[in-house]
Parts: sequence; structure tokens; C-alpha cells
Amino acid sequence: MTDLRDDVGDRLAASPFWVMAKPMGPRCNLDCTYCYYLKKAELYPEENKFRIPPDVLETFIRDYIASQSRAGLREIQFVWQGGEPTMLGLDCFQTITALQRRHCPPGHAIRNALQTNGTLLDDEWARFLHEEQFLVGLSLDGPPRTTITDATGATSPVPPAC
Ligand code: SF4
Repeated sequence: MTDLRDDVGDRLAASPFWVMAKPMGPRCNLDCTYCYYLKKAELYPEENKFRIPPDVLETFIRDYIASQSRAGLREIQFVWQGGEPTMLGLDCFQTITALQRRHCPPGHAIRNALQTNGTLLDDEWARFLHEEQFLVGLSLDGPPRTTITDATGATSPVPPAC
């Protein structure tokens, strides 16, 4: 008997596809009034953690790389979003890149993109993101009184964005 998961996997692998990973689910260290995503936690009233378990993380990384490779891609793109993915901690992202290296077949390259509100980033994070060549999308979130100062010294309100 054909395993349904294998069948679906074979069909998915026929062409490239991309997954936007949300390893902290709808958890964030901010609580913007305009956030469309934090309320998704209400879809899982029994859940109170949302942090991706280590075994699921490794399975995702291994199988995602394999599926992209089977679809013919040699450059494999991971996209990490939230909520706020840096709430996982730097050590978790170090584990992520180590797992990617472990499961990356010869002749392939792994790329990472991280979308973050930036509030938890520090020098150590910056070094890691630079060394691992992450593409970083930085959203500007905060209270309305927060302002941006441009190169001329002029200030303007931060637009609601994530
Ligand atoms: S920073 Fe982004 S994810 Fe977090 S509450 Fe604000 S809009 Fe939502």
C-alpha cells in the first residue's frame, strides 16, 4: 500500500516551494495594537508554549532540504519569521545552522532570512548573523511616540510596520 505521506511528498517535490517557518508561533516580546498575528494563539487554546521542539526542528530542516534538493534546487532558502523568532535565543539559531550543515548535501548552499523586530539583538547576535550571512529584515515597531532620526537630525514617527 502506498504511504499517503510519501505520495504527497513526491508530488510536492516535483517543483520547488518555499516555507515560511514560524518557530515561536504567535509569540512576541512586543504587543503592537496593529499586530494581525498574535491573536492566532487563540486558535490553539490548549497550547501555551509554541516554541518548536528540537526533534520537530531537525525533522523540518532535514526534510525541507531534501525536498528542495529533490526539486532540483541547489540553493536552499530558509525564512524564519514570527511572532518574534529571536525569542528562541541565539543558541537555538546556532543549532539551526549546525543542523543545516549536517543535512546539506554536497554541492548545495543554504541561505537564511530572518524577520525580526530587532529588540533582542545584541553584538553577539550581530556577529552570528554576519558570519552566517543571514538576510535580516528589520521591522520598526513600538509605541506611537517612538521616532526615527534621519541623517539630517530630523525626526519622524515610526510607521506601523512589521
Ligand atoms: S513586533 Fe511584529 S509580531 Fe511582534 S507584536 Fe509587533 S507586529 Fe506583532
